[in-house]
Amino acid sequence: MKTVRTVAEMRAVRPDDVSVGLVPTMGALHAGHVSLFEAARAENGFVVASLFVNRTQFTPSEDFAEYPRDEERDARVAEDAGVDVLFAPGEDELYPGGFQTWVDVEELSRPLEGAFRPGHFRGVATICLKLFNIVRPARAYFGQKDAQQIAVLRRMIRDLDLDLELRALPTVRDPDGLAVSSRNVYLSPDERERALTLPRALATRDATRARELLASVPGLATDYVDVLDADGLRVLAGAIRTGSTRLIDNVPLEGDD
Ligand code: AMP
Repeated sequence: MKTVRTVAEMRAVRPDDVSVGLVPTMGALHAGHVSLFEAARAENGFVVASLFVNRTQFTPSEDFAEYPRDEERDARVAEDAGVDVLFAPGEDELYPGGFQTWVDVEELSRPLEGAFRPGHFRGVATICLKLFNIVRPARAYFGQKDAQQIAVLRRMIRDLDLDLELRALPTVRDPDGLAVSSRNVYLSPDERERALTLPRALATRDATRARELLASVPGLATDYVDVLDADGLRVLAGAIRTGSTRLIDNVPLEGDD
């Protein structure tokens, strides 16, 4: 696996004769990311993983500075999963001085995560459009764990006539049912136990019952539990906080999970 840090290098290593799969990540790689790498490996001749903690999708009060970073470990995980190129640019490479152009997927960015994280999806849509333009993948891979992100990006792809397929992969969970997340490392054992209420509550597939269950646990604050219904994507989604950690999860309301 080769690591490249500039847009020019990325464009130079991208092959023209095979399909390219892109997996955008913020690092702290885990089994969820690996499932995306493996899907990309199975469906494409060349796999690019991007590694970039995107400041513009964090709100000012969030954990941008503390977000776990370990590029050496991430490079090993990506290489073992069959990634051909790790695109790991510095901030100045993607947001040079004078940067001022943004993608705003207006309506889909407003509820749920958007209401609690103003500007989050503007940052996500903008960085993803940049990555799509730099890597020019045939397919880009995302996790259903971030269901609203998928809805926002699908809309952007359609609205801006982007020539790629977005592939959405099921949420990978630990054996106890907690969705794997880079932020799980922040949880104390007690907080993790409380956080497990989120997948249990969502498993009721009933927003009212889920809210009640979450409200019954001391030390757990619920940002929202609501149905996200966007273009054939129907999930019960929730976000909770315990200690200083905020976690999200969702379950499909139609079809199988
Ligand atoms: P992140 O590095 O957190 O920005 O996530 C990169 C990609 O991995 C996103 O498409 C996420 O939806 C996906 N992802 C995160 N957690 C999981 C999980 N538990 N299962 C599947 N995909 C995931």
